[in-house]
Amino acid sequence: MIEVKNLTKRYGSHLAVDNLSFTVEEGQIYGFLGPNGAGKSTTMNIMTGYLGATEGQVLMNGHDILKEPEKAKKCIGYLPELPPLYMEMTVSEYLQFAAELKKIPKNEIEKQIKDVIRLTMLEEVKERLIQNLSKGYRQRVGLAQAILGFPEIIILDEPTVGLDPKQIIEIRELIRSLAKNHTVILSSHILAEVREVCDHIMIIAEGKLVASDTPDNLENLMSGQGQIEIEARGNKAAVEELLKSVEGVASAEYQEETEGIVKVMITEKSQTEKNQTDKNQKDIRENLFFAFADRKIPLLTLKQNKSSLEEIFLELTQNGMRKVNGQKDNKEGKKS
Ligand code: ADP
Ligand code: MG
Repeated sequence: MIEVKNLTKRYGSHLAVDNLSFTVEEGQIYGFLGPNGAGKSTTMNIMTGYLGATEGQVLMNGHDILKEPEKAKKCIGYLPELPPLYMEMTVSEYLQFAAELKKIPKNEIEKQIKDVIRLTMLEEVKERLIQNLSKGYRQRVGLAQAILGFPEIIILDEPTVGLDPKQIIEIRELIRSLAKNHTVILSSHILAEVREVCDHIMIIAEGKLVASDTPDNLENLMSGQGQIEIEARGNKAAVEELLKSVEGVASAEYQEETEGIVKVMITEKSQTEKNQTDKNQKDIRENLFFAFADRKIPLLTLKQNKSSLEEIFLELTQNGMRKVNGQKDNKEGKKS
């Protein structure tokens, strides 16, 4: 398990990571999602002990990355944004060197190198110099280095950047297979990628954690805040009056009234607003249905416009702090 507590990183006056807290449980694939400059690499560099934090703490299975670096680092394999490859070494030489650095027992090195070469599909280039490899192969060498020692936690910073579509599919498959026995954290600025491989998404914007949940929950939670389109046969005044009394309606926008049919776009109260009043609140569509039926105003259309994960991502990363789930607001009780 990884615990990140109140992590802050300043570069001069620039706040790159802003009071970030989260925990990572075993055996899942976590995705750090955020636009370029959000603070993903900085966070990963601090988590893996490559960079000091301005404030805060990182625990790897209970070991503080700064106070017990050897024990903490033993649990982690890391593929940084720019893997430290030695261009003049062959793939095999480099992996041998990495295995020694990682203090893998001598009698296990040979077998482990063989295993990671097989897993990352480097067989055909293992005797080639790294400088002569394509970007895709170099990325796999970086990945092979991260996997060596088979640490519990594997952290990959934008593992598919610069790869062609076929290579991306291969790397994703490899990540999925690793997740059977390891906890994997990867970063990406591409939503589709994170949605496809991750069990849990953490959205980071301007150094802050703005959402943390499963892809499905993120979609559901936000859709609770979505819009509902209705068309009713009646007059505008009557519909307007009716909507005022329906529970869960935040606002209503009248779009048009043609041939006795009123079209309205309803914005639902947000999940948090609703939860505060009643946890078992009904689906707003039921409230609408019965309200219209009671007044004998025929409802012709009742349609929920779900927000896609794309929209959620854009909204969250553009609007900064917007809480999607029950996760504690990082700034609570603290001055920044
Ligand atoms: P991401 O990986 O999400 O693209 P980074 O963690 O690389 O984001 O960067 C976060 C912010 O910190 C950016 O605004 C970036 O310009 C800044 N930054 C990163 N590294 C340094 C550095 N060494 N010195 C100054 N600013 C930096
Ligand atoms: Mg980065």
